[in-house]
Amino acid sequence: METHLADFIRHTTAGREAEEILRRCVHCGFCTATCPTYQLFGDELDGPRGRIYLIKQVLEGAEPTEKTRLHLDRCLSCRSCETTCPSGVHYTRLLDIGREVVESKVPRTGSDALMRGALKNLLPRSTLFGAAMKLGQSVRLLLPGVLRSKVPPLSSAGPTPQRGHARKLIALAGCVQPSMYPNVNGATRRVLDRLGIEMIEAVGAGCCGAVRLHLNAADGARDDARRNIDAWWPLLEGDAEGLVMTASGCGSHVLEYAHLLQDDPDYAVKAARIVLATRDISEVISAEAAALAPLLAACQPLPESERLLAFHSPCSLQHGLKIRGTVESLLTSAGYTLTAVADSHLCCGSAGTYSVLQPEISQRLQANKVNALAAGGPAAIASANVGCIGHIQGGTDLPVTHWIELIDARLAS
Ligand code: SF4
Ligand code: SF4
Repeated sequence: METHLADFIRHTTAGREAEEILRRCVHCGFCTATCPTYQLFGDELDGPRGRIYLIKQVLEGAEPTEKTRLHLDRCLSCRSCETTCPSGVHYTRLLDIGREVVESKVPRTGSDALMRGALKNLLPRSTLFGAAMKLGQSVRLLLPGVLRSKVPPLSSAGPTPQRGHARKLIALAGCVQPSMYPNVNGATRRVLDRLGIEMIEAVGAGCCGAVRLHLNAADGARDDARRNIDAWWPLLEGDAEGLVMTASGCGSHVLEYAHLLQDDPDYAVKAARIVLATRDISEVISAEAAALAPLLAACQPLPESERLLAFHSPCSLQHGLKIRGTVESLLTSAGYTLTAVADSHLCCGSAGTYSVLQPEISQRLQANKVNALAAGGPAAIASANVGCIGHIQGGTDLPVTHWIELIDARLAS
């Protein structure tokens, strides 16, 4: 697509990147077919090609309006369009650039600005968020339905293995996962222990930064990345062999660190090494398949009533990390029979803070996703990302868990 960027951005890093992305787009429109918001609204401007046009116009000097901002706000950043695109258009990077420019020209006001400010400041602070979550859990049954669906019942991380191992992996505790679903990292720790790997967490690491980036606070996201790199670096320079991510949303974002910090002379090289050292938990476990197989073979057979399972592959797993089929294979090897799930490429509507900021669209996507997951009559639903797990659980009575918790439970049987 031919572009003529305006002077205000042409010679910047963002401008050069946007131009390169825009030039790749051949305007074929294949991406619209797999875009969840285009499917809901049927409006070109609520699909990737239309949004690319809007961003192009703004970067070429057109004045954006609140309507421009609305169409960009409605995007889930799910990256389904990137998977479909035959030209390799890195749409979400263009979206981040476009959102930042549009927001600077059409500033937010009133409750929208307040809500985004609150999310930016609360969610990444795990101590503050943990205290708020604990309070919510203590009065959970008294909460109104919508709020209750966002507050999971109090749970624990379960037993911690006592032995150490020469092989060590650094896990990211994250911001909301420890207080909402502590058993995810608890289960990861136990499964890795059985495979002869010790899971460690770095003091000082926190939110991966995805929350702030998606709320157009790129500088805050860079600060989050630098803080995590500082916390991980001594361990990586020591005896840790790498990093393991238990939330695919965090993992997908950590892989962006090299790009985020490319212009930072103090962190660019370190960020690139972090990216190379980071793996999703499914990649780690899959690489240990030979050690896992005899452990699973020694387990009790899975009861017939628990065998049928629906797996929701988060957008961050299938479109962000491009990991497809790995978790499914692990679950099958653990004795589960996976049900067919229609439109499995579509977002569940969680999408970071999207479920709070765009509740109506989010709930429509949630309802579609729950229907698709429940259609095969599973006994439970598994996923791979804290946001999806909470969001899907809010729409169904079927138990929704992280898949590593199921492997942990199988190994304990
Ligand atoms: S990221 Fe998702 S919601 Fe946004 S344009 Fe692409 S497919 Fe549509
Ligand atoms: S599929 Fe790719 S090249 Fe085609 S319109 Fe969408 S982003 Fe552009």
